[in-house]
Amino acid sequence: MARAESVVGVVGAGTMGRGIAQVLAEAGVQVLLHDASEAAAHAGRGFACDMIERAVQKGRMDASAGKAAKARIVPALSLDRLGQAEIIIEAIVEDLSAKRELIARLDPILDPAAIIASNTSSLSITAIAAGSAHPERVAGLHFFNPVPLMKVVEVIRGVETAEQVIERLIGLVESFGHFPVVTDDSPGFVVNHAGRGLYTEGLRVVQEGVTDPATVDLLMREAAGFRMGPFELLDLTGLDVSYTVMRKIYDQFWQEPRFRPTPLPERQVQAGHFGRKTGRGFYRYRDGAMERPAEIAPPALAGSAARIWLDRSTISDQAFLSALAARLADWHDDGMAPAEESICLVAPIGLDATQAALSAGTDPARTVAVDPLFGPDRRLTLMTSPAMQRAFRDAAWAVLSASGAKVSVVRDSPGFVVQRVVATIINIACDIAQQLIASPGDIDKAVRLGLGYPAGPLSLGDTLGPARILAILDGLLARTGDPRYRASLWLRRRAELGLSLLSSEVSLS
Ligand code: NAD
Repeated sequence: MARAESVVGVVGAGTMGRGIAQVLAEAGVQVLLHDASEAAAHAGRGFACDMIERAVQKGRMDASAGKAAKARIVPALSLDRLGQAEIIIEAIVEDLSAKRELIARLDPILDPAAIIASNTSSLSITAIAAGSAHPERVAGLHFFNPVPLMKVVEVIRGVETAEQVIERLIGLVESFGHFPVVTDDSPGFVVNHAGRGLYTEGLRVVQEGVTDPATVDLLMREAAGFRMGPFELLDLTGLDVSYTVMRKIYDQFWQEPRFRPTPLPERQVQAGHFGRKTGRGFYRYRDGAMERPAEIAPPALAGSAARIWLDRSTISDQAFLSALAARLADWHDDGMAPAEESICLVAPIGLDATQAALSAGTDPARTVAVDPLFGPDRRLTLMTSPAMQRAFRDAAWAVLSASGAKVSVVRDSPGFVVQRVVATIINIACDIAQQLIASPGDIDKAVRLGLGYPAGPLSLGDTLGPARILAILDGLLARTGDPRYRASLWLRRRAELGLSLLSSEVSLS
C-alpha cells in the first residue's frame, strides 16, 4: 500500500518543482521548498498555492483542505533546513555537475535513511548518484509537465540504487494518485525512449519525399487516431528542446539507427524556427493560432465515371477491400480481371505501390494502392507508383472522395505513411520490453499517460495484429535496406508464436 512520507524537500522551485510541491501538499505531505534564488522559492510557493486555491474555487477541493494544503508548503531558505526531510526531490537546472554538487552538499545534512530523487529528463541517474557518498540512496523520479495533470512518474533505478528506495518512491507516487513506472537507468528511461518512433519516422517519410509534414500530421490524427501528429507535437514542445533530446538519445544508444533523425530539424533550429514559441516551426502561427495549410481538394468526378477493380491477390487485405466494395456501388468493376480502362485498387501491407502492382500483376500505370491498416472508415491514404498515369490517379481520388471518404494522396512508400509510423512506434516499445528496461504493462501505460497516445504501443500492436506489424517492418527493411526497420526480437517471436505483445516469458529464477 502507498505510504505517505511526512516531510519531503523539493529543491528547485521552477516549472517542475512548484508542480511537485503542489501534488505533494494536496496529498498531505509537508513540503520544504528550496531554491538557489530566494525569490524563486517564494514565487514557486505562490504559484502552487494559487493552483490549490483555483481547485477550491472550482469546487474540486473543500476550503479547509485547500487551506491545510497551502500551509504545508514552506519555503526553506537555506539548504540546512532540509535536514528533517525523509525524501528530497531535486528539480534544479539540467546540468550534471550542478546536480552532483547539490547532492554532495545534501549528504551530510540528511538523515542516513533519507532518499535523494532526481527529476532529470535526460541525465544518467547513475552518473548523478556518483556525486553522493551514498549512491544507494539516490534514484530518479521523473515527473511530466504539467505535474498535476500528467499522471505518470518514472521511478528510475540507478546501478547502485537500493531496492528499498525504489519501493518507498513507488509508495510516495501512489500516495498522490499518480502511476509509478519502474524503469532501469537507460537513455530516455521509458517515455522519452518510446517517443522516438513518432518523430523520427515522421521525419523520414518527409525526407523521402513521400509527403509534407501537414499531411503526415493529418494522417496520424484522422487515420491512426492520434491526438497530434509528430510535427504538431514538435512545434508545441519547441525544437530547441526536442532536437537536443533527439540527438542525445540517438548518441546515448551509440547511433542506433531506429532513433536516427534527419537533417530537417537542424535546419529549422538554425533558422530559429522552434515552433509555436517563435511563431514559426513546421507551421506558422498568428496570434498563437496555428495556420494549417489548406488541403488540396479532390478532382471533380468525370462525366463517364471510372470503374474500379479490386485486387483479388494475396498481397491485398481482402476484408478491407470487401468493405470498400460495398461503398463503391456503381463504380465497381467486379469482373475476374480488370476491364481495359478500369483502375486497379490494391491494399497492401508493407509494400509500396510499385511492388504491389508488380506482385498483383496489375498495370502499374493504372494501379492505385490504398492503406488498409486502420480500416475503411477513417481517412484513406492513396499511393501510386512512378509509372502512374495522372488521369487514373485523379479518377480514383475523385471516386473514393465521392463515396464519402476523406482522402490524402502520397507518393510511393513501402508502408504508406501511417503503417510506417505506427509500426516504428510499436517496434521501439517492443525493444524496450526486450531489453527488460521496464515491464510490458508498465511500458504500455507509461506511453499512453506520458505521451498521450490513444493506446499503449503494445496494446495497439495487439489490436492491429503483431504479424501485420512484423510484415510492415520486414517489408520496409527488405525494400530500403535500412537497419532502422529491423524488427525487435520481442515482436518477431510473439508474432511467430501468435502471442500478445504484452506477454512476458517465464522468469529465469
Ligand atoms: P526551471 O528552470 O523552470 O527551474 C529550475 C529552478 O532551479 C530555478 O528556479 C533555479 O533557480 C533553480 N536552481 C538552479 N540551480 C539550482 C541549485 N544549484 N540549487 C537550487 N536551486 C537551483 O526548470 P524546470 O523546467 O523546472 O526543470 C527542472 C528539472 O526538471 C530539470 O532537470 C529538467 O530536465 C527536469 N524536467 C523538466 C520538464 C519540463 O517540461 N520543464 C519535464 C520533466 C523533467
